[in-house]
Amino acid sequence: MSASRLDTQLAAELADIAAAGLTRRRRVLDSPAGRIARVDGQEVLNFASNDYLGLAGNADIAQALADGALRWGAGSGASHLVSGHLTPHDQLENEIAAFTGFERALTFSTGYLANLAVTPTLAGRGDAVFADKLNHASLIDAMQLAKANGAEVQRYPHNDVAALERQLAASNAARKVIVTDAVFSMDGDLAPLPLIFALAERYDAWLVIDDAHGFGVLGLHGEGSLAHFNLPASPRILLMGTLGKAAGVGGAFVAGSATAIDYLLNKGRSYIFTTAAPPAIACALSKSLHIIRNGDALRANLMARIAQLREGLAGKPLLPSATAIQPYIVGDNEAAVTLSKALWERGLWVPAIRPPTVPKGTARLRISVSAAHTAGDIDHLISALKELA
Ligand SMILES: *Cc1c(COP(=O)(O)O)cnc(C)c1O
Repeated sequence: MSASRLDTQLAAELADIAAAGLTRRRRVLDSPAGRIARVDGQEVLNFASNDYLGLAGNADIAQALADGALRWGAGSGASHLVSGHLTPHDQLENEIAAFTGFERALTFSTGYLANLAVTPTLAGRGDAVFADKLNHASLIDAMQLAKANGAEVQRYPHNDVAALERQLAASNAARKVIVTDAVFSMDGDLAPLPLIFALAERYDAWLVIDDAHGFGVLGLHGEGSLAHFNLPASPRILLMGTLGKAAGVGGAFVAGSATAIDYLLNKGRSYIFTTAAPPAIACALSKSLHIIRNGDALRANLMARIAQLREGLAGKPLLPSATAIQPYIVGDNEAAVTLSKALWERGLWVPAIRPPTVPKGTARLRISVSAAHTAGDIDHLISALKELA
């Protein structure tokens, strides 16, 4: 087969994707991530990022990054276990452990890698994984890796605790691992963590929680979803949090008991076989963590903007979310894209999310609210949506 024939096959598949109205494209930002994005010379209000506290463009964090690079250099030089674990990485781990209340934490370059390190390391032959059907793609990939390692995998209907209990009760797996998002990334709703934790206790299971969208936002001082529900830092919980969303920088952590973390450090392939993030990233994250801990005013502003949006769009097809993720259901793929384009033309960047990212027939606008938004920004979005929809 000639090389051009290989390309022709891909082009045909791309044409199918285009015919289904599912072509993906990127927009180039000519500005820092923040409340306002400059794209193609135009300024738009940004409701498209996960920068929930407005920290991605924070000057103090950028300064910590620059200072960190001058003090520690640009690169870590190796994986953590070889020679790439520097003082800023170690300090950040300790700060995250103290903040989340767990004995220990490990940091990763991305949340995707962090999730790949947990489930397939805990669950192999003779074990079973129980996963919510709406879990994030990275958790699904982690589950598939566990399956490749010989684990049995079961998915339960979204937030269906009774179904989860039936699956747990029927299982005689040696090790049981429940895996769930804490805040679901396309719906914005919370997992019923107290009920799931009670099941983990009753059936002696591990509980892996992905708090990508809760960390920094929920809990008394941004500790995340466990604090929101007043749940303990139990040794049966492994808590993953990402550091590129509310924390505004990049990377992720997994927190847990000292033993569980030591186990991941020894056996987690996506921890072991990758170069440690640049140490300056850890310096920036220490600064970000400090701002999050002292960020009650940011969180109060975020919550006020969320309440304002929901009140202004009462009666419209917003999913019942109390978090920064506010999905506006359109249904049809083309209609969602058309609405997103019309908003764009009014200077409002609200992405349309289509299958396969969300179930068929539930294409939506994914409105991300940030502490950086003003009341006027939210009013602008409300009146545009009322006019267009
Ligand atoms: C974004 C996200 C991840 C991946 O984190 P990255 O740091 O972006 O790789 C994992 N889980 C959930 C629920 C997410 O939203």
